[in-house]
Amino acid sequence: MKEGKTKIVEEFGSEVVLHFKDDITAGDGAKHDVIKNKGSICCEVTARTMKYLNEKGIYTMFLEYLPPNKLRARKLSMIPLEVIVRFKKAGSFIRRYGGNDGEDLPEPLVEFTYKNDELHDPLMCVEHLEILNITTKKIAYAIMEEARKTATSLKEFFDQKGFELWDIKFEYGLDEEGKVCLGDEISPDTMRLRKSGQIFDKDVYRKDLGNPMEKYEAVLELCRSIDL
Ligand code: C5P
Repeated sequence: MKEGKTKIVEEFGSEVVLHFKDDITAGDGAKHDVIKNKGSICCEVTARTMKYLNEKGIYTMFLEYLPPNKLRARKLSMIPLEVIVRFKKAGSFIRRYGGNDGEDLPEPLVEFTYKNDELHDPLMCVEHLEILNITTKKIAYAIMEEARKTATSLKEFFDQKGFELWDIKFEYGLDEEGKVCLGDEISPDTMRLRKSGQIFDKDVYRKDLGNPMEKYEAVLELCRSIDL
């Protein structure tokens, strides 16, 4: 059994069961709270969005939703990267490069950050990934293409619901055959989702803008149009 900040992973042969916890964190774990039902909401959003992606031909870890807060999934050998796809400027992009919140990027941008709280998840180039033995250039480019395709597919889903997907973070692993597969989670914790200037994601928590679960529940309602 492995326990992270927001999930517990139990292994069963070639599969795992992920338990989503009610913990919410920000700032590399500096801010931390426990919010009732947060785990079950993020788990169900992950299940439904990954089901949607599977149906679009995108390879994800998702096998089965085990209500309320568990998923049965493929076991992956996880690559310690956060793969961010941005459609609009926000967050750390603006801190690094300037610009205004919500400004369009001319095309989807894929960034790699090294998943390491002590180093504060540093931004990495493909060259770093190979030289530091994090993954090969070939796999890094395959992930880039997959992330761009996956984010675009989710953006289309939210567009149809009248919501704007500004950015999203993915984590990838390799399956038993060495194939790149989407793991981890897809939830309001891992994306920026906006509608008419309203925030429907973890920025509500990061910026202390009230009870984030009201917004998370609204996102779950949208995703309930995807059958399990
Ligand atoms: O903070 P930043 O602008 O880099 O975040 C980009 C996207 O990645 C946001 O949707 C954010 O919620 C997500 N993210 C995440 N986990 C992290 C860092 C960012 O899910 N550790």
